[in-house]
Amino acid sequence: MAIQKPRGTQDFLPAVIGNWRYIEAAIRKLCAAYGFEEIRTPIFEDTGLFLRGIGETTDVVQKEMYSFPTGDKKEQTYTLRPENTASAVRAYLENKVYGQESLTKWFYMGPMFRHDKPQAGRYRQFHQFGVEVLGTQAPSADADVILMALQLFSDLGLKDLSVQVNSVGCPNCRPAYRDKLIAFFEPKKDELCEDCQSRLYKNPMRILDCKEESCKALSVGAPEIHENLCEECATHFEQVKTLLTAADVNYTVNPRLVRGLDYYTKTAFEVQYAPLGSQSAIAGGGRYDGLVEELDGPHTPAVGFAMGIERVLLALEKQGLLPEPEVEPSVFVVALGEAAQLEGFKIVHALRHDYIKASMVGENKSMKSQLKHANKTHAKYVIILGDDELARGEAILRYMETSEQETVPLAEVKARITSLVKG
Ligand code: AMP
Repeated sequence: MAIQKPRGTQDFLPAVIGNWRYIEAAIRKLCAAYGFEEIRTPIFEDTGLFLRGIGETTDVVQKEMYSFPTGDKKEQTYTLRPENTASAVRAYLENKVYGQESLTKWFYMGPMFRHDKPQAGRYRQFHQFGVEVLGTQAPSADADVILMALQLFSDLGLKDLSVQVNSVGCPNCRPAYRDKLIAFFEPKKDELCEDCQSRLYKNPMRILDCKEESCKALSVGAPEIHENLCEECATHFEQVKTLLTAADVNYTVNPRLVRGLDYYTKTAFEVQYAPLGSQSAIAGGGRYDGLVEELDGPHTPAVGFAMGIERVLLALEKQGLLPEPEVEPSVFVVALGEAAQLEGFKIVHALRHDYIKASMVGENKSMKSQLKHANKTHAKYVIILGDDELARGEAILRYMETSEQETVPLAEVKARITSLVKG
């Protein structure tokens, strides 16, 4: 059997690239308005970065990483990035950006890799757009990134999205809450799924967002984080909510939305589009005030989010919002005879030189066959060169939309087309 693409990956052929460019253009416009600058980091990193930057107890690290030998040192491995926040923080530290500016606002776009079970909306190579704000505790930064994600969706015309927010506390208030959760789940330990049994002592908050029905049922009545936040976290959360309300965001508070790692702090949020079913999360993020320190940097509060571009495309498709393909006004030269071929070749290249889209068959085919190509390329203007026209120093200019034709002196063809295309 012929070689096929790896499972969980996709080919994006020219017919759909316009959709990607449409989203990317909207993202760049948004980031410019919000003052975010683009970064590009390597697609693979030292595996240790993700162990520490995402956390050894997460599914991503335990089950989903593509790791391979570096080929330099025995036992040292690299990993295809499963997300971009850890790499952004590594770049922030390695380039000592914290010493150059007090507030850093970055965005990125690119492929990420997770060895997960592929299904609609879940791929092994997928693309994320994400932002990171480094250097501020301000609740307004949390609100800003949430608003930014929502503005992108509303610019794209997406409807029926839901926004969920939560606070996951901080190293001051979380240990006591953790203990309460462990005490709550310990008597039910044997009934939890295998994953949750191993999460119980390492990362009990993750039990709250387990997708297994049995775990969901077992967690009914579990202690809620909101009753266990310290004053600082509670105040921060109130301020974020006040800002979101002031900006007319229709959000719900979901106490089960967790980012259960020690360096994730305070705000967590997710944007969902329910018709995507089990892969309904189209963007998610939150605060990670402890991550820069975890990676041996100075204390640097930070907040960000990541959005799955394939899922946004799926949502756009479901709502009939994909853009119409753009057709550039183009020119096609139909040349009949050897001399006409040479003249046509010169005209096509003169036009391309001025960045006007121009083409020809390049072989002496029949008029009918050349016009067929002109139609295929959606040419707006066709220049017809035959021996008779050439002998008179003329060409025929045909307007494809109306089928009208006129005669133009050869020497004026380029200027005439240029004025038609560029106005
Ligand atoms: P996360 O980094 O897990 O918080 O994911 C952020 C966003 O990336 C999610 O809301 C999804 O839209 C998208 N995403 C995560 N994993 C995948 C995947 N395997 N395939 C497609 N999109 C994904």
